[in-house]
Amino acid sequence: MTKSNSTGHGVYNPLDSMMSRFNEAARILGLDEQIANVLKSPDKCVIVTMPITMDDGSIRVFEGYRVVHSDHLGPGKGGIRYSMDVNLDEVKALAAWMTWKCAVVNIPFGGAKGGVKCDPRTMSKGELERLTRGYTRAMVDVFGPDKDIPAPDMGTGQQEMAWIVDEYSKVKGQNSLAVVTGKPLVLGGSLGRVEATGRGVMITARSAMAKLGMKPTQVTCVVQGFGNVGSISAKLLAQLGVKVVGISDISGGLYNPNGIDVLKAIEHVQNHASHTLEGFAGGERIVNGAILELPCDILVPAAKEDQITPENADKIKAKLIVEGANGPTTAEADPILRKKGILVVPDILANAGGVTVSYFEWVQNRLGYYWTEERVHRRSDRVLKQAFDNVYAASEKYGVDMRIAAYIVAMDKVATTLKLRGLF
Ligand code: GLU
Repeated sequence: MTKSNSTGHGVYNPLDSMMSRFNEAARILGLDEQIANVLKSPDKCVIVTMPITMDDGSIRVFEGYRVVHSDHLGPGKGGIRYSMDVNLDEVKALAAWMTWKCAVVNIPFGGAKGGVKCDPRTMSKGELERLTRGYTRAMVDVFGPDKDIPAPDMGTGQQEMAWIVDEYSKVKGQNSLAVVTGKPLVLGGSLGRVEATGRGVMITARSAMAKLGMKPTQVTCVVQGFGNVGSISAKLLAQLGVKVVGISDISGGLYNPNGIDVLKAIEHVQNHASHTLEGFAGGERIVNGAILELPCDILVPAAKEDQITPENADKIKAKLIVEGANGPTTAEADPILRKKGILVVPDILANAGGVTVSYFEWVQNRLGYYWTEERVHRRSDRVLKQAFDNVYAASEKYGVDMRIAAYIVAMDKVATTLKLRGLF
């Protein structure tokens, strides 16, 4: 069942969407039922309540989560999300997607995810710092460079990662840079990490264009979401020569068939008080729901889960979808896109550039030796190109779409490791 109100946060439940693809891939792979049962359930779910002193002196209680889905391939890895929509089912789905994502790109990590139910846009810097330090203290026995390594996700960034490294190091009594990735450069961050997810979207989109015989200079693209992933994907696709005709964020959407100046849009977001596209005059204003249905060749959903659904999938005009967000397509929309002949580069492949460079950051922290940006790009591009080719080959071998192929590649790898490590 994909439609669910169990979370109380909208009609679709990302955990149902993840499970539906998992079951299909398990069936095609002929996965042993007992192994499947292990891989279905997260290894660990931690829920904490954190009383935080707000700037006005009042005390508010926040709820935080961390789910480690699997540590069979290596320590748990995955971001921390600050959003009012955070709930346990969402974090469980996002943690499982991290397991499959790390396996698809062949990096030695398991999957995890964290979240705090809060609205960071309405909180002061001091409140966010106390919340982040409180969350880190509550999770100090969950996190660890060889146990579970957080990173940024929606609503968090370099500053939160800096507080996590500081709080964790203080509690442990020693500097522990490798406990978290996505840190500021001066604090053990990696060159290229900020751009990494968007760069991966561009690299996988380029591979997909080559398969479809599309020339970057002759195609148009629409990007939903203009945060870290959406804006950098748009910028790098434009650099390839792709014409970006639509962009959107929480303030609404913009359409310009002659092409939007992406660099100007990024500059606007950086300088505008709201840090959104509000007031940007680069095209015709459209309502948010219309962005996915605009005429274009490539669609990059880079906002959040459950955007492409059975309600709008049929209206999509793109020939290629490259999923910058996690879970932007519900499981029920998959067969509709397949029937329309749209090639979908799934989230666990298309947005894996972020965690790939997170891995490089962790390696550099442990070596104490830092790479040039050129080396980071070269190595992450190679990882993503290889992962794309592996998934494409699996989709041909099993006669399935790229999403199910990506699950097959990932689940096969984790299942093999699980069997070798042993179950009791
Ligand atoms: N939050 C990002 C993702 O969903 C990055 C995770 C990481 O680097 O660990 O892939």
